[in-house]
Amino acid sequence: MMEPVKRIIEDSDSPLDGEVKYDFPKLIWNLGFIIVAFIFAPSTFSLSAFLVFILLTYFSLLIGHSVGMHRMMIHRTFRSHLMTKRVLIYIGVLVGMSGPFGIIKIHDLRDWAQRKRKCHDFFSHKASYFQDIWWQLTSKFEFNSAPKIEIESEIKDDVFLRFCERTWRWHQLGLGIVLFYLGDWPFVVWGVFVRVAVSVVGHWTITYFCHNPGPGTWKVKNAAVQASNIRGLGLITYGECWHNNHHAFPESAKIGLEKGQSDPSWWFIILMKKLGLVYDVRLPRSKTLRDDLDYVN
Ligand SMILES: [Zn+2]
Ligand SMILES: [Zn+2]
Repeated sequence: MMEPVKRIIEDSDSPLDGEVKYDFPKLIWNLGFIIVAFIFAPSTFSLSAFLVFILLTYFSLLIGHSVGMHRMMIHRTFRSHLMTKRVLIYIGVLVGMSGPFGIIKIHDLRDWAQRKRKCHDFFSHKASYFQDIWWQLTSKFEFNSAPKIEIESEIKDDVFLRFCERTWRWHQLGLGIVLFYLGDWPFVVWGVFVRVAVSVVGHWTITYFCHNPGPGTWKVKNAAVQASNIRGLGLITYGECWHNNHHAFPESAKIGLEKGQSDPSWWFIILMKKLGLVYDVRLPRSKTLRDDLDYVN
């Protein structure tokens, strides 16, 4: 049995006190990709470039972001051998949203804030959709007194992950060079710029709707934010849209828990388990350990 994940080692007073401030490296990165995509996508469109875009977007988000970074690295819902772990996280780096340590901090601070009785709109996604997307793509939250977050040494001291954290932006260049050789500028524009733009905007769009009121089976007691299960999006969100389940059972590698909730990332984890690449795959905790939840449906 693995120990529960707890990286916030020192609480702070309130996830309300602070200000949303521009984060210029983030702003230039995200808006840069979106603008280049808008300008060059129409003139470089071809069926093969579009296919490269679809395949790379889908599988980098599924294997790297949802399985590698979210379910394995952040929530430790299964274990894997060292090389498998590094490959999965590296594919997550290629998504182009953040380095491994950065994504842990973004995720865990948000999750910590959402489980308090009140939190700022920046974390609860209670502002309008456009305001929220603008914030998430361009800004950071500056706490008056920030909680202290510590990443476990298994991740923080891994030389490969440290390298990924320092260089995560540069890996788009490597991928871009490979794509240029394979299919010239159309592959670069669609396989790098359109892909990163769609991945970051898509990620924050799903995050927005999953943290706003909608259908769900569970209520996390005393939490400012209750997540929703968004029907019909299982296949295109790799199962991440069953977010009400995820808030209730963050320890579970399977997020689509009920009948009809398709969960491609879970299917991929099962496949890796059959191939012997991962083990200790976890499911929701037993009914006796659910005092923090109310059943609402
Ligand atoms: Zn999560
Ligand atoms: Zn969430």
